[in-house]
Amino acid sequence: MSQQTFDVIVIGEGVSGLTAANLLATGGLKVATFEAQLFGGLVINVNELEPGPDQRQVSGAEFAAELMQANAELGIASIQEAVTELGNDDDIKQAVTAGARYKARHIIVASGARLRRLGIPGEAEFAGRGVSQCADCDGPMYQNEDVVVVGGGDSALQEALVLARFCRKVHLVHRGGGFRAQTHFVEQVKTHPQIATIWNATVEQIAGNRMVEKVCVKLADGGVREIPCAGVFAYIGLTPNSEFLPAAITRDDAGFVVTTDTLETTLPGVWAIGAVRSGYGGLLRDAAFEARNVAERIVKRLGLD
Ligand SMILES: Cc1cc2nc3c(=O)[nH]c(=O)nc-3n(C[C@H](O)[C@H](O)[C@H](O)COP(=O)(O)OP(=O)(O)OC[C@H]3O[C@@H](n4cnc5c(N)ncnc54)[C@H](O)[C@@H]3O)c2cc1C
Repeated sequence: MSQQTFDVIVIGEGVSGLTAANLLATGGLKVATFEAQLFGGLVINVNELEPGPDQRQVSGAEFAAELMQANAELGIASIQEAVTELGNDDDIKQAVTAGARYKARHIIVASGARLRRLGIPGEAEFAGRGVSQCADCDGPMYQNEDVVVVGGGDSALQEALVLARFCRKVHLVHRGGGFRAQTHFVEQVKTHPQIATIWNATVEQIAGNRMVEKVCVKLADGGVREIPCAGVFAYIGLTPNSEFLPAAITRDDAGFVVTTDTLETTLPGVWAIGAVRSGYGGLLRDAAFEARNVAERIVKRLGLD
């Protein structure tokens, strides 16, 4: 089994992992990032990022590509393998993949999260045939169609607004009686002529023939309403990518990694940042803040500051 040694291993090439790796390599450390799927992670869902100080408008995918490019120029090793296990040998940590064992003094878990699924009949069957979780990517396919969005937080409202640019009508189904989202999203959704909210309701089934044709929604009064639609987009929260971590790393009830204020996990030398972390703020600026914070802590721990 091949073995390579780094100063710091970063698990996940999302915004938090790529940013932390960049800062550590800029400080002269030998860094590797690991990615199980495609670099970028959740930010790929964002079509238009808020312009930065240079006022450039870029998409999430473009932003992630720029981070990757900058990291490549710094000589950061980008290893396209899923980390399946962590090893702990005194001061040396190990990231284990299917084919190799990599060593480092510190490991940053930046493995993020994935959008939670509804877990209802029809969801798996119609995946890619009307069931989607990327409004920006798939929205244009629903020009002048009706779609259903499920959820009541920032992501659901933001993505309902994206879909409303293309669709005839967006039915927003929310199990609560009020939104838990930023005021500017709530105001826009409530006044948008193409978005209709169904409160205190749950989607129970997705049905169709070759493609999605309708959903069945259970209403607050116990009745069931069928909504004809061509697409269903669920934004009902996130599930952390933390299953591969050892039991020595404490997680909260939902599986998010618990850290100290300094972002260290219950396994010394293993740190966690971004969407995998319990208490993460949820925005890209929080990811960047945590990345900077953890990089500073590790540099200090290595006695390099
Ligand atoms: C629909 C939606 C819209 C959003 N819109 C905005 C917005 O407008 N503004 C904003 O500020 N924020 C927005 N966000 C939030 C923002 O995208 C996230 O907070 C941020 O991208 C999280 O980054 P991360 O690096 O922590 O995790 P992730 O982006 O989840 O990255 C983690 C990476 O780790 C990889 N990985 C997982 N497990 C392993 C493993 N075992 N081995 C190797 N690699 C692994 C994953 O494949 C992934 O690439 C939005 C989120 C969603 C879902």
